[in-house]
Amino acid sequence: MKCNEINELLPDLAAGLASATPEVNDHFRSCAACTGTMADFRKTMALLDEWQAPEPSAYFDVRLQARLREEADKQPAGWWAWARRPALAISLAVVMVAGMTIYRTERKPVTGPGPVPTLANISTICRCSRMWTRIRKLASDFGE
Ligand SMILES: [Zn+2]
Repeated sequence: MKCNEINELLPDLAAGLASATPEVNDHFRSCAACTGTMADFRKTMALLDEWQAPEPSAYFDVRLQARLREEADKQPAGWWAWARRPALAISLAVVMVAGMTIYRTERKPVTGPGPVPTLANISTICRCSRMWTRIRKLASDFGE
């Protein structure tokens, strides 16, 4: 194995998340640089294990909540203040979706001019015989 391959494994090996394979151990025996880096990683991990996070004071939560309220009061209610209220934002989204749905369903699809009216079509539509004879006479006057 090469040093750059070992360097990628060092954090997990030092933390105990991975175990060294025989190839890794062979490299450690032959490479002083990687062995030194591994020793440094182990020291760092040991220090992190000893480190104790300080406990917050008893009034930490109370002071934090008071501070958050102060900050919330300082911010002016701008035009986008409604977006911070989930109920209002969701209502607006529902209204927008409903509006788009109604708009899209009420629009008639764009089609061509439709079937060209002919005398045969007109005769099926117009059932009045007197009107039909007048139409036929008009059509014959125009030479159709
Ligand atoms: Zn090496």
